[in-house]
Formats: sequence, C-alpha cells, structure tokens
Amino acid sequence: MATLDRYVLVRLNKQTVTFKYKKPMEDNNKEWVVVDLEKNEDIRIGMIRAFLRARDAAVKASGAFGKLKSKSGAISGAGEVASGVLDAHFKGASGADHVDKIQKSFAAIAKGLSEDVVISDTIGRPGKEVEGCVDPKRAAGGEEYMAAMLKPVVDPYIAQLKVEENQKKQFELLDAMKHAKGVEMARVLSELGPANLKSIHVLFNLCTCRSVDFIARVIVHEAAHKFAGAGDVSYMHEGSFRSMNADVAVLNADSYAYAALSILRDEVLTSTTFWRSEPIASTVQGKAQKKLDKKSMFGGINRGLEKKPVFLGTNRFYEKKNL
Ligand SMILES: [Zn+2]
Repeated sequence: MATLDRYVLVRLNKQTVTFKYKKPMEDNNKEWVVVDLEKNEDIRIGMIRAFLRARDAAVKASGAFGKLKSKSGAISGAGEVASGVLDAHFKGASGADHVDKIQKSFAAIAKGLSEDVVISDTIGRPGKEVEGCVDPKRAAGGEEYMAAMLKPVVDPYIAQLKVEENQKKQFELLDAMKHAKGVEMARVLSELGPANLKSIHVLFNLCTCRSVDFIARVIVHEAAHKFAGAGDVSYMHEGSFRSMNADVAVLNADSYAYAALSILRDEVLTSTTFWRSEPIASTVQGKAQKKLDKKSMFGGINRGLEKKPVFLGTNRFYEKKNL
C-alpha cells in the first residue's frame, strides 16, 4: 500500500515559517491526490498569505469590536462596517452579553492567530472533503467523540422530522436542529478549550482553486472553533443562517469568519458578495499587494509573488478535478 507524505505548516516565534514533514500516511482513499509541498510553491505561498490575511482580519476585528459599548440594548462605538456586521453576521446583536461574547471571542481568535500556530492539511480524512476542521484531541477519534456528544441533541429533532408531514414545519425543524447542534458544539469546544483541541486543519488544495481571502476566511472560521469555542450553528450560505437569532449567532464560527474579513476589507460581506468578488481577492494586487508587502514580515516571499501569480484568479466553484 502506498504511503502519502503529510506536511504541516508551522509558524514559529513570529518570524519563521516552517513546512514540516509529519508522518507517512496510508493511502486509504483513492480520491485524494497528494500534494508535494516541497514542489508546490502555490500551496506553500498561498497558505502563508492566507494565514497573514486571516491574522490581520482577526486583529483588526478585535480592535473594531473592542471599542463597542452596549447600554440598555443600544450599541455605541461601532463604525459603519462594524454596525453592518452586527446586523448581518451577528443577527442584530445589541445586548451587553452579546457584545461581551463577541469581544472576548475576537480577542481570543486574534491572540491565538498572533502566537505560534500550526496549520495542518485536512488530507487523509477518509470520505470527507471539508474546507477545514478542528476536532477534539481524542485517542479514539475526535470526530467520533464530537458526533457522540451531539447525538442526544440531534436525535429528538430527527424523531420529530420522521413524523412531521408539513413541509414548512420540516424546514423549521431542520433549522432548529442545526442551531441546537451548533450551540452544543460550542459548549463542548469551549469546555475542552484550545489545549484539548487538535490544530487548525485546512484543505491545502484550496490554494490551487481559491482566493487568498477565501482561505483566510476558512482559517478564521477554524480559529473561532479552536480559540473561541465557537460552533457550527450555521454556515453563511445556508438557509438556516437567516433564521438564527443573536443569542446563537454570537456562538457561530462562520459569523466570526465573515465578520473578520468584512472588517479587513471595509465592506459588509455576505457569502454572495464575498464569492462574487473573489477574483479581486485572488490577485491582491496593486494597492492591496503593496500594503501587504510593506506590512508583511514575509515581504520577501510576497515580493516574489508579483512575478508568479499564485492563484488562478477565477471565481470558479471548487471542483473535484482540481484536487
Ligand atoms: Zn466549522
């Protein structure tokens, strides 16, 4: 049986990036095509740039939301984009509890991404193509552990769904189930804490078909799981995002991801606007590129990018053949 080389991306002492060979892996799923990171510069550089964008986004969001004050249900100190984010991504969050949760979460995400971070490839998760994941550290399997924890919350909804014949009510039940599941996931992740969670996993192959900011968004999403104990209440492109309320939105990983990228890009992004503007994000050229070079501690690496575009610059949807 063939073995696959697995690499992890390690960021050390705020200056160095190391791509590290971790361990050989059994070729247990033929669908996966392995990426040799030593040969694939697109992925190496793409992951670094996406990471820098993710960290910048989290730090800026932490600053922007850190200024907020909530008094008798009214928010002050929010700029235009932060106000828009509270409406769009945090579903009108305005209470002191909401603001406190958002501030603490962004502070934790920004701190987590500003320290030493390990990002691993998701490759080798059999039968599953996820953009990213953060599972509990468990000898028997973190994913299985999480599924077992969520089961008691999900089961009553499944039982109800089996007997519910009204389609509208079925959709309502599905949304309610997703929300309850996400809230429970947030509870479990928070209780475990970052030390008991695996590293941030991201599908490295996204670098071959997605923009820098697309991957940055995935990194912030996973960082929200890891450092702030956020759950998957709803992804922004799902219908169940609409029916979330502020109480659960402040626990939702995707809300933090879109919020952070919105603050970074100074525009309230929805899944539609974000994906539509992806080609612009892909190239990060011109002004944005110069800004990135100047600010980046990896300026040397980024300068090299001007000669060699890293991303395809299309907004084609992720296609399996790209793997
Ligand atoms: Zn997630």
